Amino acid sequence: MRPESAIIVEPVARLIEELSKLPGIGPKTASRLTFFLLRAEEGQVQALAQALLAMKEQVHFCSRCFNITVAALCPICQDTNRDQSKICVVEEPLDVLAIERTAAYRGLYHVLHGHIAPLEGIYREHLKIDELLARVRSEPVDEVVLAMNPNTEGEATAFLLLRDLVPLGVRVTRPARGLPTGGDLEWADPETLGSAIHGRREL
Ligand SMILES: [Zn+2]
Repeated sequence: MRPESAIIVEPVARLIEELSKLPGIGPKTASRLTFFLLRAEEGQVQALAQALLAMKEQVHFCSRCFNITVAALCPICQDTNRDQSKICVVEEPLDVLAIERTAAYRGLYHVLHGHIAPLEGIYREHLKIDELLARVRSEPVDEVVLAMNPNTEGEATAFLLLRDLVPLGVRVTRPARGLPTGGDLEWADPETLGSAIHGRREL
């Protein structure tokens, strides 16, 4: 235990600890946020706490594509004008937003909720892969677009999916090259991402 922890009162130490568990937030940022909230108006803190709880209570995953939704099906799955013969597979719900912003794609999605990363203990069974294969078998799908992040884990995940999808007789495509490698789809600029989706190639 660090010496200063004895002089930080328990509720403060506890909030710092909880905030430190969030991605991209180290102990320094967690402390800064905690002391900001300590000085903030009661109403602002209440609003933050309520927003966190409401998000957890009301938002869940779409029963078909695992995008986030407040209904049983997400707005994209509910939209019968979307092209039902195409499924674009992405790692995270934020990737759906990134691709939607490009307006280059009008099919459906499937969110894996991560990528294969054995070093982090994330294997096939932790992702929504079996659910994807079940959809390809039961829905009128003729193309699956593998829009993983352009990095090592994304490549590994796409390779594994390709191996599973080929025996199902579906066309498997990937966005054209040109996305900055090593990055995340969600940070790609809409124009680049849009033309990568447009120029997708069969594997
Ligand atoms: Zn959905």
